[in-house]
Amino acid sequence: MIKLKIIVAGAKSVGKTSLIRRYCTGFFMIDTLSTIGVDFMVKTLNIEELNTEVNFSIWDFAGENKFRQLFPSYCSGASGALLLFDITNRDSFEDINEWLELINNASGKIIKFLIASKCDLDDWAVSKEEVLKFQKDNKLDTFVETSAKTGKNVDIVFNNIGKSIIEMSMRKCPNCGELVQKEVLFCTFCSENFEREKYAQTK
Ligand code: GDP
Ligand code: MG
Repeated sequence: MIKLKIIVAGAKSVGKTSLIRRYCTGFFMIDTLSTIGVDFMVKTLNIEELNTEVNFSIWDFAGENKFRQLFPSYCSGASGALLLFDITNRDSFEDINEWLELINNASGKIIKFLIASKCDLDDWAVSKEEVLKFQKDNKLDTFVETSAKTGKNVDIVFNNIGKSIIEMSMRKCPNCGELVQKEVLFCTFCSENFEREKYAQTK
């Protein structure tokens, strides 16, 4: 079981709480009360290709300015971030810049996905070229179009961010096959010595 913290950022009302609820409960709720400060939900996912279970804690941050001073502590320990904008609201796309800067200042190298929300509305206030350019310029790992209302791509987002994080930060022990952090020198399951393996490769 691998524990991963994912943070969700974006302007107020872009649909952060709705996306997290849809993923964790399978439902879309019409009345989401405005999130106060920080909230989080958990969900366990089985990633078959990697033969592992992932326990996500998904942190929901209120978009209001008055809470922004809490942001650095909210980012602590996170290995992935979802940056949301509402496709019908241009300001929410322009706001992503600021969220990205806050995340980059608060965390080390973490996986970042750019997420378009409310795609069921099909009323784009931003061009897709612009979005893709922004993704590329800012080295965001991927861009996904979602709808918490219809459920479009919601599971895919979490599945893929889980996989990306694991691929970036973990490796399979050649001896016992368990996933371990890339930087450790010994397997934490079977104590296989990875330094020896490195030495054998360079010889
Ligand atoms: P948050 O402030 O970012 O947490 O946004 P909420 O999740 O509270 O959603 C704000 C509003 O957008 C609510 O009225 C939701 O019902 C609505 N909403 C959220 N996701 C979607 C979606 O995928 N499609 C549509 N049409 N509306 C959505
Ligand atoms: Mg909310």
